[in-house]
Amino acid sequence: MGLSKMIWANPSEFLRIEQPLNPVMFFAPSVLQASARRFIDGFPGLVTYAVKSNPEEMVIQNLVAAGIQGFDVASPAEIEMVRRLAPTAALHYHNPVRGRHEIAYAVEMGVKSYSVDSRSELQKLIEIVPAEGAEISVRFKLPVAGAAYNFGAKFGATVELATELLATVAEAGFIPSLTFHPGTQCTDPMAWDAYLRAAAEICTNAGVKARRLNVGGGFPSHRLSTEIPQLDAIFELIGRVAHDAFDGEPPALVCEPGRALVAESFTLAARIKGLRDGEHVFLNDGTYGNLDELPITGIIDRIAVVSPEGVQRDGEAQPRVIFGPTCDSVDRLPGEVDLPSDLEEGDFLVFSGMGAYSTATNTRFNGFGDMKIATVMRLGL
Ligand SMILES: *Cc1c(COP(=O)(O)O)cnc(C)c1O
Repeated sequence: MGLSKMIWANPSEFLRIEQPLNPVMFFAPSVLQASARRFIDGFPGLVTYAVKSNPEEMVIQNLVAAGIQGFDVASPAEIEMVRRLAPTAALHYHNPVRGRHEIAYAVEMGVKSYSVDSRSELQKLIEIVPAEGAEISVRFKLPVAGAAYNFGAKFGATVELATELLATVAEAGFIPSLTFHPGTQCTDPMAWDAYLRAAAEICTNAGVKARRLNVGGGFPSHRLSTEIPQLDAIFELIGRVAHDAFDGEPPALVCEPGRALVAESFTLAARIKGLRDGEHVFLNDGTYGNLDELPITGIIDRIAVVSPEGVQRDGEAQPRVIFGPTCDSVDRLPGEVDLPSDLEEGDFLVFSGMGAYSTATNTRFNGFGDMKIATVMRLGL
C-alpha cells in the first residue's frame, strides 16, 4: 500500500492527473477532525476510538490532534502502535478473551482497563493484572435487534452472569465497571435504552456501584443516501436514559465508536476495468478488498461515477450488478445498484463514507489488493 506525500485539492484532481489503475482511498483529515469534535461535543461522557475500524497511523494522529484521549484496543500490536503515537492516551483492552501472554504484555505497557464476559477469563485477569488502580468492565449482552449484525453472537455475558462477574470484580479489589456493544451500524436508539436500563439492574442485583459505563460503539455512519444517521438524538437519549435508569447518579459514561468516527473521512475510487457486454460492471476493487464488509453490512449507495477526465456522469439511473476483480463468485456487491446509464469502461466509481472496515480488512486474495491512500483537502468532487 502506497502513501502519497502530497496533499491534493479533491479526489477528481487526483484521478484526472494520476489515472490510477489500482483502487485509491482519499483521506480528508479535516473531515475526521470534525467527526471527532462532533462526538466530543455531543456525547455526554468520554469518547474513545475503536482502533480496529481503521488503524492507519494518520487516523490515530488526527484523532489525537482533535482531542481524542482514549482508545479501544484488541491486541498487542494495537497497544504497541497507540502507545507509540499517543503515549499519554488511555488504553481500554476490550477484547474479552486474551491469551495469558497478551495480558502480561498489556500490564507491561501500563494498560489499566480490561473487559471480560466469562468466569474463566476473569480468573486470568485476577491472576495476572495487579488490582491496584485497574478497572475491569463486565461486558453483557441482551437479545435486542437494531444493528446491521449482532455482536452478542460472540461476546457478552447474560444479565445473570454479568451480575455475578461484577460482584467478583469488586471483591477482587478492581474498579468495577460495565460495558456493552449494541452491534455495529445500530440505527435504533432504543437498543441503547434497553442496555442502559439492564446495566442499572445488574448494578442493583450485584450490590455494586459501577464506576463507569461504556456504551460501546455501534453508532451508525451515513451509508444510504436516503438515511441520514441521527447521532445527536442517540447522544441525547443515552444521557437522558442513563440519568433516569440510575436515579440521577449514573456511572461516568464512555463510548468507543469506530465506524461513526472514521467512516465519513475516507472516499474510495474504484475503476471500471470491464463493462461486460455492456451489462455487468467489473471493478478493480471488491469484497476481498476495500468493499469487504458490504455483503454483511449492506450496500453503500452514495456513489458518483467520474470519467477519466474528471467529469461526473449524469445519465439516468440504471440498476447494475457490480463484481469485484477476483475469480470468486461471492466477490459481488449486494443486490443491484443504481448507476448513471452513460458510464463507460475506465470510469471511476467514487464511494463516500468508506473509512471503516475497508483498508483494515483489505486482503491480497487472487493477487489483488494493491491500493493507495491519497490525502485531500476536501472530499467533494
Ligand atoms: C469493534 C468494536 C467497537 C467499534 O464498533 P463500531 O460499530 O465500529 O462503532 C467498539 N468496541 C468494541 C469492543 C469493539 O469490538
